[in-house]
Amino acid sequence: LNPSSENLSPDEFDVEKKLRPLSFDDFSGQDQVLENLQIFVEAANQRNEALDHTLFHGPPGLGKTTLAHILASELGVGIKVTSGPVLDKPGDLAGLLTNLDERDVLFIDEIHRLSPIVEEYLYSAMEDYKIDIMIESGPNARTVQINLNPFTLIGATTRSGLLTSPMRARFGIQSRLQYYNTELLTTITQRSASILNVPISMEAAVEIAGRSRGTPRISNALLRRVRDFAQIKGNGSIDIAIAKFALKALNVDAHGLDEMDNKILMTIIDKFKGGPVGISTLATAVSESAETIEEVYEPFLIQQGFIMRTPRGREVTELAYKHLGKIKGNVQGG
Ligand code: ADP
Repeated sequence: LNPSSENLSPDEFDVEKKLRPLSFDDFSGQDQVLENLQIFVEAANQRNEALDHTLFHGPPGLGKTTLAHILASELGVGIKVTSGPVLDKPGDLAGLLTNLDERDVLFIDEIHRLSPIVEEYLYSAMEDYKIDIMIESGPNARTVQINLNPFTLIGATTRSGLLTSPMRARFGIQSRLQYYNTELLTTITQRSASILNVPISMEAAVEIAGRSRGTPRISNALLRRVRDFAQIKGNGSIDIAIAKFALKALNVDAHGLDEMDNKILMTIIDKFKGGPVGISTLATAVSESAETIEEVYEPFLIQQGFIMRTPRGREVTELAYKHLGKIKGNVQGG
């Protein structure tokens, strides 16, 4: 149940796609972001111009990719999808850019992972809709400048801090996505259940929502797993009893913290006396990369009040001790 989608099987990937909202109306939450985007889209449509380049940032699974697709559809244009690590040569980017129709969207996921040379190449495309391409080779090699159709670059990143400032400055629209509250996730869970054709009680939807780390991708993933339990151990419909049974079997705790969340808290308490501890030391202790801890785990633990970031490192709060049934100052193990 890792919140990033990279480890989905092809079937699961299809299900996830099916659950993806297709229009502004389908999309729940992120009200302020959505209100603004609706205005920008309407204005761009009226002027018949490409929407300004748009950057979405925030933890994985909150709807960045979904919003990129919704924007393209609300703009009535096509979308091409790629990601930072995939685009390793300027030539790959040139191929994509020259194939964009007027006002199309180019979506680059993990845009903070573009190589510097590709990033540089993107600048003139973003600014003047122009790129230089190299034609022929050997003594006849020369660059020619070609004009692109006006287009909208939509970038998504989990780490806006890693984006270079020239890159960031080229996005006219920048939106930060927030974690969802239980009420919104309940609505999303109910919507997904109805798309999957599985009956679910209100209570069960609330239960799943409350344990989803504020993340729609996780509530959808939990729903799919609970649906399996309902099918095999129950009568196919999801009530509170089967939901609780399944969530317990899946090791999801009452706050929605997963195994790694708990391991991080436990490690800071047991091995580092509650902190402060530096991120790389912590990463080694829990055998996870520092980057993943910063991108995926820490933002939620901070938002929920389990961890504090201090100049000397990460510290757990009173709430973390309480959650794990630990007493402060009582160091065990090591
Ligand atoms: P990100 O790109 O931020 O990692 P995605 O856009 O891929 O996240 O969203 C993951 C899944 O969560 C999508 O398949 C979609 O079904 C669901 N989802 C995300 N945001 C919403 C939302 N606001 N309403 C309903 N479903 C959502």
